[in-house]
Amino acid sequence: MSKSLTCDVVVVGAGMTGAACALYAARAGLDVTVVDRGPVAGGTTGAGEGNLLASDKEPGPELRLALLSLRLWAELAHELGREVEYEAKGDSSSPGTPKRSPRWESSRTHSGRPE
Ligand SMILES: Cc1cc2nc3c(=O)[nH]c(=O)nc-3n(C[C@H](O)[C@H](O)[C@H](O)COP(=O)(O)OP(=O)(O)OC[C@H]3O[C@@H](n4cnc5c(N)ncnc54)[C@H](O)[C@@H]3O)c2cc1C
Repeated sequence: MSKSLTCDVVVVGAGMTGAACALYAARAGLDVTVVDRGPVAGGTTGAGEGNLLASDKEPGPELRLALLSLRLWAELAHELGREVEYEAKGDSSSPGTPKRSPRWESSRTHSGRPE
């Protein structure tokens, strides 16, 4: 006999996106259930290289989200301690040619990096 499930939020997908949604929804006081057709992190998340990059983002909404994400990762790492493998290594990107691209100049200006 099936049992009825009662909660505020059902998150479908136990990858990085679903886990983050579930965590912050639960922290907001909601009763959250995560369901997945397979194992936790059994999708694309399990294949990720673990890089947290901001330098490859164009100035604008995506870069702002990336910077917010970096801050949240650092907070979580501090909070969870040894439970997560977090290492703030920094990152950089290059246009790959002697002549700098407009995108490179734009991102350099935005981040305030020196020449
Ligand atoms: C080789 C590789 C390297 C990468 N490296 C990086 C990196 O270094 N840094 C980075 O930021 N990003 C990286 N990415 C991208 C990153 O891994 C993905 O953007 C991220 O993992 C996506 O997470 P997700 O939770 O949205 O999806 P997923 O991890 O795929 O999770 C989706 C989940 O939903 C479940 N699901 C789907 N449909 C249903 C359904 N109908 N019913 C029940 N469950 C369902 C799946 O089983 C799965 O578990 C990489 C990707 C790849 C492929």
